[in-house]
Parts: sequence; C-alpha cells; structure tokens
Amino acid sequence: MREAARAEDLLEWYDRHARDLPWRIGPRARAAGVRPDPYRVWLSEIMLQQTTVPAVKPYFEAFTARWPTVSDLAAAEDADVMAAWAGLGYYARARNLLKCARVVASEHGGVFPDSQEALLQLPGVGPYTAGAVAAIAYDLPATVVDGNVERVMARLHDEHTPLPDAKPVLTGYAAALTPDERPGCYAQAVMDLGATICTPRNPACGLCPWRPSCAAWDAGTAAELPKKVPKKRKPVRLGIAYLARRVDGAWLLERRPDKGLLGGMLGWPGSEWNEAPEEAPPIRAEWKTLPEEARHTFTHFHLRLTVKTALVPMERVPSRGEFVELPAFSPSDLPTVMRKAFDLARGS
Ligand code: SF4
Repeated sequence: MREAARAEDLLEWYDRHARDLPWRIGPRARAAGVRPDPYRVWLSEIMLQQTTVPAVKPYFEAFTARWPTVSDLAAAEDADVMAAWAGLGYYARARNLLKCARVVASEHGGVFPDSQEALLQLPGVGPYTAGAVAAIAYDLPATVVDGNVERVMARLHDEHTPLPDAKPVLTGYAAALTPDERPGCYAQAVMDLGATICTPRNPACGLCPWRPSCAAWDAGTAAELPKKVPKKRKPVRLGIAYLARRVDGAWLLERRPDKGLLGGMLGWPGSEWNEAPEEAPPIRAEWKTLPEEARHTFTHFHLRLTVKTALVPMERVPSRGEFVELPAFSPSDLPTVMRKAFDLARGS
C-alpha cells in the first residue's frame, strides 16, 4: 500500500515536471492516447548507455532524420552508420544497433517485439534496455534499473550495502515500487527524479515528492549514498598513430577490425596499444613526431598516443590502409581518439 502511494506521488510530480526530451511522449500527450514509437525508445536507450542526455540529443535527432524507421536503419550501409555514430563512443553499441535493426526488420516485420523476453533475444539488448522498451514503449510493468534508479532506491531505503553487491536488493526495492497503472510513465518519472532532483551531489530534497517517506532524508545520509566499492586505478597504455598525407591532400586511413576496441570504425594505421608499442609505420616516409600526445580515456585504461606525421609522394604504396581523398573523408567520421590525433596533426 505504501509503495502504491509512493508511485502515485511520483506520477503526480512527473505530470508537472517531466523533462522534455526528443524521444519522449510527455505525460499530457500520453494521456491523450499518443503512443511512443518503440524504434525511437530503443534507439534513445542504446545511445544513453554510458552517455549523457545533452551528448545524445544531436545524435538522436540526426539518426531519426536520416533513418526514420527501424527498417530504414536496417537498410543503411555499415560505414554510414559507424560514421554517424563517430564521437558518441562505446562503438560496440553501433555495431549491435545495426545487427538489432536488421533482426527486427527481417524477423519481426519491422516491429519491435512487445514482450521483455522477446526483446531480450535481440542483439545488444540487455535486461535494462529490454525493461525500458517494454515499459516505455508498451506500458508493461517492467522494472527498469539504471544508475539513477539505484541511487534513488539506496537513498529512499537508506541502504548502505556498497554497489555492485547492493544491485539485487536495490532491484527488489525498484520492483516493489513499479505500479501496474502507467508503468511507462513511472519508469521515466523515476529516471527523471534521479537525473534532476535526487542527483549524485547536493540532492534537492526540498523539491522531492518522496521526501516525506525517504529514509536517507530522515537519517541525514543522502549525500553519502549509494556506497560503492572503490574502483581500481586504470592502467596507462601507449600507442603510436601514423598520419600520412599524400601530396594531393588524401589521408591514409584504415578501417579497424570489427571485433575489439573501436571495432569497425575508421582510424589511423598504428601500433598495438600496450606498455611498449613497437614502431609499425604503414608506408615508407620521413616521419615527424609531434611534441604533444593524443590522450584519451577508455573504460578500462588511459591511452597516450604518440602522433607521427609525414607527407608522401603520389606513387608511394602503403603496406596497410588506403588513401582517402577529401571530401570522401570527413574528420567527423572518426572516433574521438582518432579525431584528437587528427586535430594535433592539422595544427602542427
Ligand atoms: S528526499 Fe532527497 S534523498 Fe530522498 S529520494 Fe528525495 S531527493 Fe533523494
């Protein structure tokens, strides 16, 4: 009963304070019978994994303008989708995005399945995304737990078990709160509460609809929750990137193998990334080492990339990669780390 009242309080708050997001059908439109497009819900949820709302918005708008339906996306060229994703990071998402779109187009007639179990069978769709699509697109009472929801649940219940051990208990709290009425709005409401009120630092408890029943508010512990097991320090890896420019202005590029980091993305030929990378120039040239490194942080390590540049004559043949002439090559097609190397070379 208490949980039902809590869900109702949150829905009332959501009806007044829902964020206006390009992939969202707001509470008023939803009440008027407008249904969310599962393709847009799925696309936004994949883009939002590990990525902020402001970073996702322009990509979401560009993708849906260019590929308005899942069948349009399924028919796209791999290289076009990878180039459109460039800069958003976590590139395995883009490869799985295409795989998933093609499965939905070929095996489900271009319509996303409407059960959590069937959604879970799709490439790149884990429990979180399946729950979010089931709840938001199909209004099913699925429990949706992301980092925001974990934080809110830990505080609401003053749960001090550190993450990730606390995940099952926090998921249990979230499941108990998920209502049968308007579960799609509820899923978005709790995400909004975590993103705008119950924020990691300085939660705005004075504006929170759950303050009257919040255990962390009572205990004065909100700022220290959720507890987390300290992260290990990330190691540093080194690498060398070779940026060769032909005298006609073409750049030597290669597509990275589909599997592995930045898989399927365009990049500069280079060494392995490890503790002591070996020289691996892709073409005979007088290489110049730039004074500044391109630095980038991936999920599991920091990368320091030495950037080497060279100008090469027309007839010289590379041992790997191929020369791409402007305007067929656009720097915006590169993933961020490769773009950083390019910016250094261009400014040198
Ligand atoms: S009262 Fe404060 S700590 Fe509790 S749920 Fe609301 S914002 Fe979070």
